[in-house]
Amino acid sequence: MQDKQPVIGRFAPSPTGPLHFGSLYTALASFLEARSQQGLWLLRIDDLDTLRNIKGSAGSILTTLDLFGLHWDGSVVYQSLQQAVYDEMLDRMQACQMTYRCACSRKMLTSAVYPGYCKNQSIPLNAPHALRVKTDRRVINFHDELQGRMTHHLSEQHGDFILKRKDQIIAYQFAVVIDDDRQQVNQVVRGFDLLDSTPKQIYLQQLLGLAIPRYMHVPIIIDQHGYKLSKQTRATAVGLATPEAIIFELLTLLKQQPPLELQHAPVPELLDWAVLHWNPDALRNGQRIIRLAL
Ligand code: GLU
Repeated sequence: MQDKQPVIGRFAPSPTGPLHFGSLYTALASFLEARSQQGLWLLRIDDLDTLRNIKGSAGSILTTLDLFGLHWDGSVVYQSLQQAVYDEMLDRMQACQMTYRCACSRKMLTSAVYPGYCKNQSIPLNAPHALRVKTDRRVINFHDELQGRMTHHLSEQHGDFILKRKDQIIAYQFAVVIDDDRQQVNQVVRGFDLLDSTPKQIYLQQLLGLAIPRYMHVPIIIDQHGYKLSKQTRATAVGLATPEAIIFELLTLLKQQPPLELQHAPVPELLDWAVLHWNPDALRNGQRIIRLAL
């Protein structure tokens, strides 16, 4: 009998502020999904977007995860240290004519789907330009573990999307695909707000002949005004004084029904229970948003 591939999951926060309740919710879900299958759980810091990075937040994210008992395997990968890997792959894609240079400014574009103005132009190398991937009319089907079957028409819904921005920053869609492949990630658990990015990432995986991970997009947490809890909306950093109370609350929001007698249990005990009883089916109810009364 063939050995089953070990599960490799990951959490990939951007260091744009300290870890807040919403990102801890996602981290915990991805940790439990990996650990409940005896899998590895990796940590990657998505720090390519230097304009959005906030100094010190990578370190504070690591400390917070540690305090909450979410210990990762191996060493932390920083995207900013992999620039040469992305550039080399982009060169190969350019050589195979999978990409083209685009000089359009954001102002020129009125729709979210790029109409392909630069596709058949030869934008000079020394002109400021982004790199776009050529897409085709294919349909991308995938199964999300919670959201079910997804179908996207690539050229109509996404168009030729950017792999390297005009400011030379490698785009998230591209970096994530290269990194997940290099780290042999075969299970991606992340917030529902990234569900729409998945078809683009699957397209790149198909184009480059890479393995496609399993995807699970968990609900996102919003505040009482309807905004996603994110570092941009200045959601406060998660309190560090009582991690066990926060883990208990997160498990409740993950619909895991932790027993009341564990309410004041230490974090390792809570997490042991959660790994043993992890039941993502409880989240398979179509709920994509959890509103908190903060
Ligand atoms: N870095 C992204 C974020 O913080 C998540 C990337 C991913 O999970 O694919 O929103």
